[in-house]
Amino acid sequence: MAEKKFDSAGFAVREYPIYTGQKITPNTYAIHNGGCISYLLLGDYAAIMIDSGMSTRNLYDFVRTLTDLPVLGVINTHGHLDHSLGNGYFKKAYMHPEAVKDVKSAQQNSPNYPTDYEIETVEEGWTINLGGRELEVIYIGAHSLGSMAILDKDYRILFTGDELDPGQVLVNMAGNYVPGQTVENHQKNMLKLKERAWEYDFICPAHNGTPIDKSYVDDFIILDQMIMDGVPGREDITSPTLPFPRPDGCLRQNYKCAHMCYHPNTIFEK
Ligand SMILES: [Zn+2]
Repeated sequence: MAEKKFDSAGFAVREYPIYTGQKITPNTYAIHNGGCISYLLLGDYAAIMIDSGMSTRNLYDFVRTLTDLPVLGVINTHGHLDHSLGNGYFKKAYMHPEAVKDVKSAQQNSPNYPTDYEIETVEEGWTINLGGRELEVIYIGAHSLGSMAILDKDYRILFTGDELDPGQVLVNMAGNYVPGQTVENHQKNMLKLKERAWEYDFICPAHNGTPIDKSYVDDFIILDQMIMDGVPGREDITSPTLPFPRPDGCLRQNYKCAHMCYHPNTIFEK
């Protein structure tokens, strides 16, 4: 068996033999095998990626097997390493200003990835048009303060990164209070997505299965409320899709299929 390689930060270097593309609509691909689920969106005259994963295999080369359209770059749902280390396979990355420091520190800790690309910061309400396919950014920072949902207005899809996910959403499990990284703020963001629910038909999250039903938004609103109302969480937070050991004091709670891992110190905004 090949020896496992680690980068300077101790993360396993991921040399997946191939990417796999899952066509979820005629012009939308979910791409697996590089950390998170990345998405390739095709418009009439251009394509764009949502997230770039963390494979050391060249994601751009794989994208070229799926489309001949010019690829404008990557939109990062947030800056965590499993969403952004592959940015350098593309010429440009769009991200929230709060995501930039996460992206830079991920690059510093993991030198096995290309870093020569342009960063453009974008915020709530920013739009980009791929030709007959307009995307809009909705700010939803809580798991990460750099988090944005991407609303595909023409094809009625909502991309939610790690803020809404069928495995579990992680909200500051370390328990060091940071304004915005709370269950209360997560609910505020979910209510914002609910207000826009008439504009999308289904949801594409970044881990643990895609696509998923949009009623997850309602389930997360109820789940957040249960946690704020003091319904006791469980200490056994480990799940098939969250294998690492529990940080001290961290809890898991769920409502139907919506799960959250959080810390009692980080439920409410102060
Ligand atoms: Zn994340």
